[in-house]
Amino acid sequence: MHPVYVGVTMYPQAHLLGIAQDGGHPHIGCWRPCCAEAWNNPALAHRPACLGLVSDEGRWLLDATPDLPAQLAALGPPPEGGEILSGVVLTHAHLGHLAGLLQLGREALATRSVAVWAMPRMRRMIEENLPWSLLLEHGHVTLQPLECGARLGPFVVTPERVDHRNEASETVALHVRGPNRTLLYLPDIDDWSRYPLADRLKGVDRAYIDGTFYAADEIGWRDPATVPHPLVVRTMELLADVPERSKVQFIHLNHTNPLLDPASEASAEVRRRGFGVARQGASYAL
Ligand SMILES: [Zn+2]
Ligand SMILES: [Zn+2]
Ligand SMILES: [Zn+2]
Repeated sequence: MHPVYVGVTMYPQAHLLGIAQDGGHPHIGCWRPCCAEAWNNPALAHRPACLGLVSDEGRWLLDATPDLPAQLAALGPPPEGGEILSGVVLTHAHLGHLAGLLQLGREALATRSVAVWAMPRMRRMIEENLPWSLLLEHGHVTLQPLECGARLGPFVVTPERVDHRNEASETVALHVRGPNRTLLYLPDIDDWSRYPLADRLKGVDRAYIDGTFYAADEIGWRDPATVPHPLVVRTMELLADVPERSKVQFIHLNHTNPLLDPASEASAEVRRRGFGVARQGASYAL
């Protein structure tokens, strides 16, 4: 029997399940004003960047964050007979993009042969290192080559390498093509110097891109050289005359980023300049 789906929720679409940087918001060890309130009020908190792709053929996650259980729960229970999780696509081996994969293991969900798409170095890292390799040994996941692209039900996901601190794996942006629309998911990049951002915007309908820090003064307490990311103010200058800038929504926001507050002056400025401010929980029909 064909499973019964509720309303429009099974039309091919992307769900923005998190918009924060790897450490989430509130952030470990932070009691400054950016996080103090969010520790006491979960409604103000944000999960690490993650996109859920959903259709009547399954549900997939782009990135496996430390908040994977809650992000999977945000998609609701699967339809009767449907899979809880059909697959995961990994962008790179940093905390906010990989750590949740262990939730598929014996200690938690204990999946059977869930497809995990990853680039060659990332696959080797998982194959050759405990505890990741146990996921393979116990049959919880199967590794799939991402470099050739991935077909996830009605979605086609294509990787694009980007510059980032690649200590343990490559880093990729993901191009997602649905039946009707396309999007770019690019949570981490060092800077735009070698990435044709304006060009790429022409080829997609929506772009979720690295907006880790809004401005330089935000990270005065930490050496910016150790955490290179394009500043939102610079990215807005770079795209000031590009009409496609309206497709941009900034994600991967550090806990210090004023864009986490939709009522902040920075959020208003981003909208004034013709860009979008991402909201956790939003969905986008593909
Ligand atoms: Zn990250
Ligand atoms: Zn903070
Ligand atoms: Zn990273």
